[in-house]
Amino acid sequence: MKLWPRRRPASAPERPRANPTHIAVLEHDLLGIKPEPGSPAALAIALRKTGSCFEHDPIDTSTMADPHPTGQCARCGRLMLQDDEGRWQVALQP
Ligand SMILES: [Zn+2]
Repeated sequence: MKLWPRRRPASAPERPRANPTHIAVLEHDLLGIKPEPGSPAALAIALRKTGSCFEHDPIDTSTMADPHPTGQCARCGRLMLQDDEGRWQVALQP
């Protein structure tokens, strides 16, 4: 015979789950893993390449080893190159 009620173990608090689309886009950007075709991540990456950026906002990411200043658009993420006159252009990607 139990005199005291048994205590229930406290359940762990719900932790917010990371957005799987955001994870897939980061995997593509950082590791080169292609998202599943037709997935929201594939759509997000495809839209990025269609020129959804009205005016690029280049950030200089060049290092000492780069022969020309290189950068990346802060809005659309496209790689950019700076020419001799200081104008940024979208780099052609393979
Ligand atoms: Zn852009």
